[in-house]
Amino acid sequence: MTHRLLLCTDMDRTIIPNGRQPEHPQAREHFRQLCGLPLIKLVYVSGRHLLLVEQAIADYQLPKPDYAITDVGTKIYCRAEAEWTEIHAWQKQIAGDWKGRSHDQLQHALSRFTELTLQEQSKQNNFKLSYYLSLAADHDKILQQVDLQLTQLGVAASLIWSIDEPQQIGLLDVLPRNATKLHGIEFLQRHLGYGPQEVIFAGDSGNDLPVLGSSIRSILVANAEPQIKQQAQQLAEQNGNTESLFLAQQDNFPLGGNYSAGVLQGIAYYYPEIGEKLTEL
Ligand SMILES: [Mg+2]
Repeated sequence: MTHRLLLCTDMDRTIIPNGRQPEHPQAREHFRQLCGLPLIKLVYVSGRHLLLVEQAIADYQLPKPDYAITDVGTKIYCRAEAEWTEIHAWQKQIAGDWKGRSHDQLQHALSRFTELTLQEQSKQNNFKLSYYLSLAADHDKILQQVDLQLTQLGVAASLIWSIDEPQQIGLLDVLPRNATKLHGIEFLQRHLGYGPQEVIFAGDSGNDLPVLGSSIRSILVANAEPQIKQQAQQLAEQNGNTESLFLAQQDNFPLGGNYSAGVLQGIAYYYPEIGEKLTEL
């Protein structure tokens, strides 16, 4: 029995139905009702920056969160009414990984990788260096070389590889090593004093894998690509965390398992008592 729950969820293609698969017409309404339960604190964990988070909330009638971990984990905000406040302690904590080097210095150091195209200015920040990389390129090899170059500079980085399915383009984020979605969630969990059973995460793609494979109770929505399902299961096995990974199924729930319906399915699995409340809604 849990009395409170920190519900951390990715946005695009996890609760935003902007993938190829269909969304159940009632899924988001039920998700909004779930998020209205007093025991839920809602955290969006996204590659988006804050303005794009707000835009998605408006465009898709998503519930307003209590916190937002944005820019793939490099920024954390707290929301009160319409006001967002950045939690600066977080950026202070991750700053050390880049050993005093700035975004521009790292960009310069990686300029010899001609396959990498810098993403738009709005997708960069002090601790997020983001590139596009063609799906035709040998991304494993390029990532290895980028990693080597950064190691030689003494920089501790996380390289996060994701695919933007609708746009059919690869995304590479160079982040401080401790600034992934996983570290952001762990920081917020400690910051707010939530226990291990009181945190849950839902995601669908590459930059969600560190969380999906961790000991944090996680949900992989049914619309995730088969390759991600395989990778998440492998990672959870390697880390001894198969108990804390739930794969939502499209065929065993009244609403299916795509997008927010998958999140609801996972919550009912981990927390049957909340599941019962959901059926009453
Ligand atoms: Mg996603």
